[in-house]
Amino acid sequence: MNAYHLFNLRWPDGFKCPNCGHPKHCKLAARPVYQCNKCHHQASLTAGTIFASTKLPLTIWFLAIYLITQVKNGTSVLEFSRQLGVSYNAGWRIKHKLMQAMKERDDQQPLEGWVQMDDAY
Ligand SMILES: [Zn+2]
Repeated sequence: MNAYHLFNLRWPDGFKCPNCGHPKHCKLAARPVYQCNKCHHQASLTAGTIFASTKLPLTIWFLAIYLITQVKNGTSVLEFSRQLGVSYNAGWRIKHKLMQAMKERDDQQPLEGWVQMDDAY
């Protein structure tokens, strides 16, 4: 998983400006941000998702989601952190955030933006 996959998840039919619906865009080099050619609205790939404020590489998040959705009976934070290769504290925060996102889904509150999860949960 990388920014390319994220792009396809967010805009499966190709880019569409969230502001004016215009399809033509250009990608800003430094950040995962796409700029509309018409109104110059900048659409961030991660804004409005659980990844919005993360400092961790997205690959860690994808691995974390994979691990959490594979282990049906839950996994200890210690084991989880070890598998991700992050500190215990970072592992706890990731797990907490993902569990929260899944709980919100259970509560029938639509998550912001797009989120795809294993339907086993
Ligand atoms: Zn636009």
